[in-house]
Amino acid sequence: MRQPLVAGNWKMHGSRAENAALVRSLLDQLQPGPGTEVLLCPPFVYLSDVARLLTDSAVALGGQSVCDEPQGAFTGEVSAAMLKDVGCSYVLVGHSERRQLYGEGDALVARKFVAVQSQGLVPVLCVGETLEEREAGHTTEVVARQLDAVLAVSGAAALASAVIAYEPVWAIGTGRTASPEQAQDVHAMIRDKVAALDATIGGSVRILYGGSVKASNARELFAMPDIDGGLVGGASLKADEFAQICAAAD
Ligand code: PEP
Repeated sequence: MRQPLVAGNWKMHGSRAENAALVRSLLDQLQPGPGTEVLLCPPFVYLSDVARLLTDSAVALGGQSVCDEPQGAFTGEVSAAMLKDVGCSYVLVGHSERRQLYGEGDALVARKFVAVQSQGLVPVLCVGETLEEREAGHTTEVVARQLDAVLAVSGAAALASAVIAYEPVWAIGTGRTASPEQAQDVHAMIRDKVAALDATIGGSVRILYGGSVKASNARELFAMPDIDGGLVGGASLKADEFAQICAAAD
């Protein structure tokens, strides 16, 4: 049995006051059913604030990105050890906005994955194809390539303490969601690929769907056999909507 996980990626949104209101309202509304784990990924500068707000709650904290190096002269970067120090237990790596807007390639994403695990944190490895790639029939090839880059460096065993998020780029922030069947097809492919290397890990690794998840579509997405929760951007900024999405994962 895989424990569902719903992660909120706040991206570059919020202020101290807005975050406090959002977290308080969310904690009031969350009905963590018997199983769903909830994760919040605020901007770096608010991590400590949000960690304090989450004290005594079961909600986990995560970074939106990380440096692949452990420390040193890397101006503007944040290490995995720093994220751990301020209370993170998860870190997103390879989000499509990092890949597309900041030129993060597969090799760098793989190094970030390693850096996160070296601190005992759990990487949420984001993979997904662009619209062009999907329309050209390259979805499987692109997602497999993104996974292979990490597998080549870390090996399949590393996925025992990682989460994978399938996020079709064309569905992120666009309001256009993959259908449950489209998402399930890719999730099944990912799980089969991991299972071919290690059947136990293939069966246990959590694979989240991300891309315009909302309260209105979460239930049917999460009902698919290989979808173990969601990575939620825009809708995680609204406490009531995000709480409903979390409830849909139970
Ligand atoms: C995301 O930020 O990873 C995401 C999926 O965004 P949205 O839910 O807004 O599409």
